[in-house]
Amino acid sequence: MLDTLLDLTDTQKEIRELARAFAREHVAPFAEQWDREAHFEPSLVGKLGEAGFLGMLIPEEYDGLGLDTSSYLLALEEIAAADASTAVLMSVHNSLPTQMILRWGTDAQKERWLRPMARGELLGAFALSEPDSGSDAASLRCQAVRDGDDWVLTGTKAWVSSGTHAGVIVAMARTDTADMRRGGRGISAFIITPDLPGFSIGKKERKMGLCASPTVSLVFDEMRVPADRLLGEINYGFVYAMQSLDHGRMGIASQAVGIARAAFEAARAYADQRQQFRRPIRDFQAIQFKLADMASRVTGARMMLHATARAKDRGDKVTIYSSMAKLLASETAMFVADEAVQIFGGYGYVKEYPVERYLRDAKVTEIYEGTSEIQRVVIARELYT
Ligand SMILES: Cc1cc2nc3c(=O)[nH]c(=O)nc-3n(C[C@H](O)[C@H](O)[C@H](O)COP(=O)(O)OP(=O)(O)OC[C@H]3O[C@@H](n4cnc5c(N)ncnc54)[C@H](O)[C@@H]3O)c2cc1C
Repeated sequence: MLDTLLDLTDTQKEIRELARAFAREHVAPFAEQWDREAHFEPSLVGKLGEAGFLGMLIPEEYDGLGLDTSSYLLALEEIAAADASTAVLMSVHNSLPTQMILRWGTDAQKERWLRPMARGELLGAFALSEPDSGSDAASLRCQAVRDGDDWVLTGTKAWVSSGTHAGVIVAMARTDTADMRRGGRGISAFIITPDLPGFSIGKKERKMGLCASPTVSLVFDEMRVPADRLLGEINYGFVYAMQSLDHGRMGIASQAVGIARAAFEAARAYADQRQQFRRPIRDFQAIQFKLADMASRVTGARMMLHATARAKDRGDKVTIYSSMAKLLASETAMFVADEAVQIFGGYGYVKEYPVERYLRDAKVTEIYEGTSEIQRVVIARELYT
């Protein structure tokens, strides 16, 4: 929809078509049921892996597709338009744990973890947040203490997307408790697997949207983590997490664009067929203007996002742009989904049609991987440095 401005390459168009076909066959027909039953479909991970969607940014030498960021975001938009819950699984996996291992992992770590992650044999998750540490992520309290050949981790990570089914979790823990004021510099990143002694899955959240994506807390009870699971340098995990969020936020922006596009397309189709006052409601200028605003915002958010992706692939620093893209796209998703419900009238408010799900799913894009307030903090900070 309205994507001619994107100027896509043939490969990018092909990837988008593949993702669209995958979503049509394996995701869209089940999205309503998975949402209603809050069901995470485990077989989806293998299917996404087989199709290459879990290794899109992993180089071919590690069994990935080694694609550019725009291709990945285009595929993600297609999946999100079918089901936002499936999109968050794909976004977190591709943007955070795999990217962190790729960028800061040793050769042995890449060899051991990236291959199965690229093939969809191991699903990745990211554990930064804690019950008392969200926007102020550097205040996290989960502790890692060295004991012989192991690290011993104690604490609770909160809100871990895909946490019930993840085979690899990149988790942040404090390794230097001497001076909390040093902020990020006392935190390290660890590669965690659910088989480690002391690991357990805690509370599963009951959510307003994204119901088919399991969000859980993870409890580390004196969990022994072999020393070779430390990712990158000691005390630099927080820095790595923040740098990776540049990428993560593009993923969430793409998820938001996908939800918004789906809401727009549903509303446009409904406006064509719904008759009131003996004419389709699309004949009313009030409805046409809503659709015009919706289309403009979706197109604008998508353009911002893909311009950011291209800058990233050129090697530019994109912190300010990825925050802008996430801010614009998530607010677009909320605006467009809300207007879609309005265009559907009473039918928008019931579960017979998908637009109420779009509205519920859109909200979280303004919250996770940094709230809209935090995106504004980041943008303002970048403006003044
Ligand atoms: C469905 C879901 C999935 C998630 N998945 C993951 C995951 O996989 N991994 C992970 O680590 N985390 C995950 N999160 C956590 C998410 O990133 C946090 O919820 C988010 O960062 C906000 O933190 P908080 O909820 O503690 O809110 P708080 O930080 O307590 O914020 C509360 C309010 O205060 C505002 N606020 C806080 N600080 C400031 C400030 N300095 N200036 C202005 N306003 C401020 C916030 O914007 C917000 O409106 C997930 C969350 C949800 C809901």
